[in-house]
Amino acid sequence: MKTDMPTQFSVSTTATPTPHDQIVASISNPAFGRVFTDHMATMRWTNTLGWHDAKVEPRRPFQIDPACAVLQYAQEIFEGMKAYRGEDGSISLFRPFENAKRFRASAARLSMADLPEALFVEAVESLVKVDRDWVPGGDGSLYLRPFMFASESFLGVRASHEYVFCVIACPVGPYFKAGKTSVAVWVSDQYTRAAPGGTGSAKCGGNYAASLIAQTEAAAKGCDQVVFLDAAEHKWIEEMGGMNLFFVMDDGSLTTPPLSGTILPGITRASIIELARREGIVVNETPYAFDAWRADAASGRVREVFACGTAAVVTAVGEVRHAAGEFQIGNGEEGPLTQRIRTQLTGIQRGKLADPLEWVYRID
Ligand SMILES: *Cc1c(COP(=O)(O)O)cnc(C)c1O
Repeated sequence: MKTDMPTQFSVSTTATPTPHDQIVASISNPAFGRVFTDHMATMRWTNTLGWHDAKVEPRRPFQIDPACAVLQYAQEIFEGMKAYRGEDGSISLFRPFENAKRFRASAARLSMADLPEALFVEAVESLVKVDRDWVPGGDGSLYLRPFMFASESFLGVRASHEYVFCVIACPVGPYFKAGKTSVAVWVSDQYTRAAPGGTGSAKCGGNYAASLIAQTEAAAKGCDQVVFLDAAEHKWIEEMGGMNLFFVMDDGSLTTPPLSGTILPGITRASIIELARREGIVVNETPYAFDAWRADAASGRVREVFACGTAAVVTAVGEVRHAAGEFQIGNGEEGPLTQRIRTQLTGIQRGKLADPLEWVYRID
């Protein structure tokens, strides 16, 4: 899928580009989120001018006033997506218009400026083109972080009249340590991530800020990630801090919590549901209680559990710890369906497998 768009982004490249051998070194052994490409895409919005000043420019710090609205009231949203290098050297994005749509939905929930989908994708595409040498091949990818923040200097509590949109990029390798086939998760009975009517379905920084304490608790329990339960009854499984969850049942079906407004509508989640249904796998988007999970893991009704999201793609959950004890999923290792889904999804993303639903967006 490709739309013809005149480019609206002016490009000014850096006078001090990272030397080629240094780029090669960073993309062959990337550290997640620490090394960034040379450029960024930016755009500004004001209530008088709308979107303007679209450019790709050398990456640099922002200069913001201490009264900047985002620093006071956390009006900020973001996206997470990746550019992949195929074996033929071509570069592509995966379903970028889905990220653009979700960005608009997040902006609406946080009372922020509406960014047209084509402009969002153009910003991402323009940056990737300029920094194309930074897209790793093999198992790596270029992680892209589009975000928007309220930039007006004003302490009154209302939606800002000014916003900055920006895209930055960093080369990444596998999210979890090499050789690790599954993760241990902590089910928090004390903290929740989102409540009905809140911001759970928006990708805003504030959701993450509120989840960090539970993540710290998980780490103290020797776990890699937190699983949150619903805020009202502390009974229903929702999602992890940054990934959606799937349960593989003994009849071969998949269960995943429904998009009730309190969980983030993952694009990986949606893609897995579509791929599975195409293969005739039954997918139940239905509430699933933590007590049922525990009983089903013991009886063998739950065979596999995996988490999914852009950063970690598909990751098996091997062990579950909670206030009253712990239990294992299957033999604690990645199961066959989890592995198959991961291979299929990454195969499509990297151009190794057929792309029947036209999800791959090639960048020339
Ligand atoms: C981004 C995110 C996900 C995963 O979404 P993808 O589109 O699959 O990357 C899941 N949960 C939360 C809370 C997120 O922020």
